[in-house]
Amino acid sequence: MRIGIIGGGQLGRMIALSARPLGHTVTVLEPADEVPAAIAADVIRAAYDDESALHRLAECSDVVTCEFESVPVLALEIVTSHGVPVYPRAEAFRVASDRLFEKTMFRELGLGTAPFVAVDDQASLEEAVADVGLPAVLKTRRSGYDGKGQRVLRSRADVAGAFAALGSVPMILEGFVAFRRELSIVSVRSVTGAIAHYDVVENVHRNGILHTTTAPAPNLDPETADEARRYATAVLQKLDYVGVLAVELFDDSHGLRVNEMAPRVHNSGHWTIEGARTSQFENHVRAITGAELGSTALAQPCVMVNLVGAIPEPAAILAIAHASLHLYDKLPKPGRKVGHVTVLGTDASAVEDAIEASTGVASLAS
Ligand code: AMP
Repeated sequence: MRIGIIGGGQLGRMIALSARPLGHTVTVLEPADEVPAAIAADVIRAAYDDESALHRLAECSDVVTCEFESVPVLALEIVTSHGVPVYPRAEAFRVASDRLFEKTMFRELGLGTAPFVAVDDQASLEEAVADVGLPAVLKTRRSGYDGKGQRVLRSRADVAGAFAALGSVPMILEGFVAFRRELSIVSVRSVTGAIAHYDVVENVHRNGILHTTTAPAPNLDPETADEARRYATAVLQKLDYVGVLAVELFDDSHGLRVNEMAPRVHNSGHWTIEGARTSQFENHVRAITGAELGSTALAQPCVMVNLVGAIPEPAAILAIAHASLHLYDKLPKPGRKVGHVTVLGTDASAVEDAIEASTGVASLAS
């Protein structure tokens, strides 16, 4: 089939690299000069809301998917007006691009969340603080990622002026969750409704950016894993979802609370390239093209380490037994994900040491 992807970054790249061996071709829509997906895809270089470019993308695609959640509604409408399906469906993007819609859906599905209240101005922030208490986390409803567009409010002094400081846009206030750890589950649902889940993983963030993913999450009790699968299944079914979905979770003394979802392949699923029988990228392709899903079974426990802000000497990584290097063809800039390394086993210290020794990135990032 001919697959169109809105977005040509590293997620589009890894989807394209999985799609080609299955006999598909890929075209990406990407305005940036740098197009990591170009390694395995044709490129339409235009803005995500460029109408003529979207018509062209639809004309050269049998199915379209996206590699980010804030995709313009217009883009989805133009593609579907050609009779070309967009997977996941528009409703998933509508919900996932707004933290209030997302958390409200989780609550309606009976899933655990932090307490949350909508905030539209400083006065409603004061009321929300009275409701939720302190500490709390104030987040913009839209356009927040990698810890951007949010701040922790610990005292009354932090509350004063906080609405203006975050840009006077619609927000939500969430109770602060004193979690033991952060988990996520990457799941996939096909056009036929078949669902499969990867192992629940543990994520560690640094400066709001994912640093490591350990698969499977160490010492996870089976009830918690079941609960995570139940949460993901509820979301997949509610949205009549097609493709890979990631659900980010806090593990605290009350059980699991959903933090957010990503309607796409996810950084905390990159380990599946080496660590699972079928990668999240291949299963996303299988799901959106109507093929049977591949096995999501664990092949090998592993740890994924993100390369953020600097590229290590490849030889230093390749010298480590059972380490796989994935560079994205991106110029390094502070805070930018430029690649990842997956190492089989449960100990990533050799990888972390090699990254630090060849880039000094640990000091840059922390
Ligand atoms: P988010 O952008 O919602 O993924 O948040 C980025 C990070 O901030 C999360 O991975 C958590 O480490 C932290 N965080 C977000 N929301 C909360 C919360 N309600 N309580 C405690 N920590 C949070």
